[in-house]
Amino acid sequence: MARYTGPVCRICRRAGIKLYLKGEKCFTKCTIDRRPVPPGERANARRRKVSDRGLQLREKQKARYTYGVLERQFRRYYEEAVRRPGVSGENLVRLLEMRLDNIVFRLGFADSRNQGRQLVRHGHFSVNGRKVNIPSYSVRIGDVIAWTERGRRSEIFKVVQEQIASRGVLSWLSITTDTMEGRPIALPEVPELDLRFNPNVIIEHYAR
Ligand code: SF4
Repeated sequence: MARYTGPVCRICRRAGIKLYLKGEKCFTKCTIDRRPVPPGERANARRRKVSDRGLQLREKQKARYTYGVLERQFRRYYEEAVRRPGVSGENLVRLLEMRLDNIVFRLGFADSRNQGRQLVRHGHFSVNGRKVNIPSYSVRIGDVIAWTERGRRSEIFKVVQEQIASRGVLSWLSITTDTMEGRPIALPEVPELDLRFNPNVIIEHYAR
């Protein structure tokens, strides 16, 4: 399945909730604030009752679109989450949160995960001194995420550098604004993440 390239706000309207997929615009000119109805004439005409299965599917889609992960890859995250000890739902979220594109976003180096993915793809970041251009790269606790020379020459770097001091990071992340480096110092704290989906329902969805 190809990556979704249509209008992003449509995804939020269909989900009926803000998924914050567009960075700054989500806080200033959000479409769902102006048009809080699902897309499509038929959907507006009459809402059908959604089955349990449908609700589970909806949660999964919200998570998939939030992190920009394709179905096959998402299933792999699920399989890894249930293989690991502990609560599978939390494991799933932690696996998604430790993706390099997400960490770049969480550190405030990108406005959205989408932008984080683009910056990683364009070779703007290194992990422990080695350039990594794979957005799904799984970061480990203690890994140092830094801008590459190429990244430092970009326009976005200058903008981020000016703003970074005023942006905070989550408790499981650490950032050094002087050097513009960051690292996870612990596993992601799930209650701190303001998730727009229920990971336990997603686990139920796959377990059926
Ligand atoms: Fe669009 Fe962001 Fe609002 Fe979602 S939260 S509808 S992506 S502006």
